[in-house]
Amino acid sequence: MLILLKPGSSEPAVAAVSSRLRMMGLAVHRTDHDGRVRLAAIGDGTPVDLDALKTWYGVESVQRIPVPFKLVSRSFHPADSVISVGRCAIGSDQLALMAGPCSVEGEEQAFQIAEAVAAAGATVMRGGAFKPRTSPYSFQGLGEEGLKILRRAADAFGLAVVSEVMDTQQVALVARYADILQLGARNMQNFALLHEVGHTEKPVLLKRGLAATIEEWLMSAEHILSQGNSRVILCERGIRTFETYTRNTLDLNAIPVVKELSHLPVIVDPSHGTGIRDKVAPMARAAVAAGADGLIIEVHHDPDHALSDGAQSLYPDQYRELVGQIRTIANVIGRRV
Ligand code: PEP
Ligand code: MN
Repeated sequence: MLILLKPGSSEPAVAAVSSRLRMMGLAVHRTDHDGRVRLAAIGDGTPVDLDALKTWYGVESVQRIPVPFKLVSRSFHPADSVISVGRCAIGSDQLALMAGPCSVEGEEQAFQIAEAVAAAGATVMRGGAFKPRTSPYSFQGLGEEGLKILRRAADAFGLAVVSEVMDTQQVALVARYADILQLGARNMQNFALLHEVGHTEKPVLLKRGLAATIEEWLMSAEHILSQGNSRVILCERGIRTFETYTRNTLDLNAIPVVKELSHLPVIVDPSHGTGIRDKVAPMARAAVAAGADGLIIEVHHDPDHALSDGAQSLYPDQYRELVGQIRTIANVIGRRV
């Protein structure tokens, strides 16, 4: 439930209400909005007498949060969340441009791509060191060596780093090198992993599962927030449908839907969303027009020889041209690159 405290409530008054709620066995989360303290008190579903709570000192109103995802909802936190990473304020009027190879393959590859995407205007470099591959015989990533290379390449060109963590035991390792922890589509409902990243201070890029509804996706974000980490960036990356001409079906509906339901930033991955190089730019442009807070795009200087996802990787020149177009669209909708 959502408890709104009276304007100007003192910190001791806030603490008193919070501790009474905790004594009832409820978890209490706080946000401040419009000069008012808002408390989300979350329990196990045991009915609580809302009318009694309304009489407590300092309490202005009490209401149920009408959705299953509580901390993620706009009811709890009405303003857009902005997550600062490096030079980037994700969820602000500035679009977050993340780009880089699907997999980190080596020093020369990573540096070449980092230089190109930084020159084009990206502020975050992507690159997988632990790769979730359909086949056990495909390239599985360079592991820690890949993270080291990615960090060095990104640092050389002033970029932040996002990289996937596939397992609870890898969280500390990936957190040592990356600025943003990516949870892949296949792990969206790996609840142990959601909790583990929820215990870190790092922003989490939470990709939508291959067959996840928007509500399931937001519930996965709720798992992370419930553990104390509210710095979650949602990423729509396409869902599995009956369509076979594209790798996935990029659900751009999800952008305005999520924007209404949640305060969390939402970015779009048109690379995995389409799986086809020449479909990436049109869907990237559409995503920004639809209100996405940023884009994560695979770029490779030699995609024919990429160890993963070459067919959907843009050439550096294509990426630069796309960023120019994104800049134009951003201007029209009151945003910027
Ligand atoms: C990736 O970003 O390279 C990746 C594997 O993405 P997803 O989890 O969306 O398939
Ligand atoms: Mn990929």
